[in-house]
Amino acid sequence: MNLIFLGAPGAGKGTAATKLSELLDIPHISTGDIFRTNISNGTELGKLADQYISKGNLVPDDVTIGMVKARLSEPECQKGFILDGFPRTLGQAEALDRFLAEDGRKIDRAIDIVLSEATLVERLTNRRVCVACKLSYNLKTHKIADNTCPVCGGSLIMRDDDNPQVIAARMVAYHKDTEPLIDYYVRSRRLVRVNSEEKIADTFANILTALEIRGIKI
Ligand code: AMP
Repeated sequence: MNLIFLGAPGAGKGTAATKLSELLDIPHISTGDIFRTNISNGTELGKLADQYISKGNLVPDDVTIGMVKARLSEPECQKGFILDGFPRTLGQAEALDRFLAEDGRKIDRAIDIVLSEATLVERLTNRRVCVACKLSYNLKTHKIADNTCPVCGGSLIMRDDDNPQVIAARMVAYHKDTEPLIDYYVRSRRLVRVNSEEKIADTFANILTALEIRGIKI
C-alpha cells in the first residue's frame, strides 16, 4: 500500500506516519528528516536545503523530486511506503504519479490531517524532537524530564524552524503551494480527511477508521 500524508506544519503527520509505518511494516519516508540528516552531516544537499528550510521556504522541486524518486526506487519501497511531507507542490504530486506509473505503481490514498491554525502554531511552538530516534513530543501533553526522550534516551531539541518567524513563513508556503493538493487528490478520488483537534491517540484511531471506510485493509 502506498500512502501519503498531507496537512499543514504541526498537524502531526510525522507522528501518525511513524505509527502507521510500524503497523503496516512499510517504510516511513519523511523528506524533512532526510534534509535535516543531510544538514547535520554537512553534505552538499544539506547545505543547499538549509538555505530554504531556515527561512521556512520550500526546497526547489527538482532537488526534492530527484531525492524522493531515488528513495522510492529502493527494493525496500516496492512492498509499499508512507510519504510524510511529500508532495508539497502540484509539480511534486504530478511527478510522483508519473514516475510511479512508469513501474506500475500508484498512490492509493492521501491522508489529510485537518486542524485549526491556532492549534497548529501552538503545537509547533511546544514541539520538541529527539535528535536520535526523531520522535516528537508536545511539552504540554507529555511529561518530559531533563529534555530526554522517554523512548530512547536521546536529547530533545526544539527545531530551528519552529520559531515564530519561520513558522509564519511555513504557513504561507503551505497555503500557497500545498493546500491546492487537497483538490488534486479529491479529483482523483484518493483523499481521506481526518480531523485532529483531539488527542493524538484519537487521531490515529480516526485515521485507521477513515482508511478502512475508504476500502483500505489494515
Ligand atoms: P517537515 O519536517 O516536513 O516540516 O519539513 C521541514 C522543511 O523541509 C520544510 O519547511 C521545507 O523547507 C523542507 N521540505 C520538506 N519536504 C519538502 C518538500 N516535499 N518540498 C520542499 N521542501 C520540503
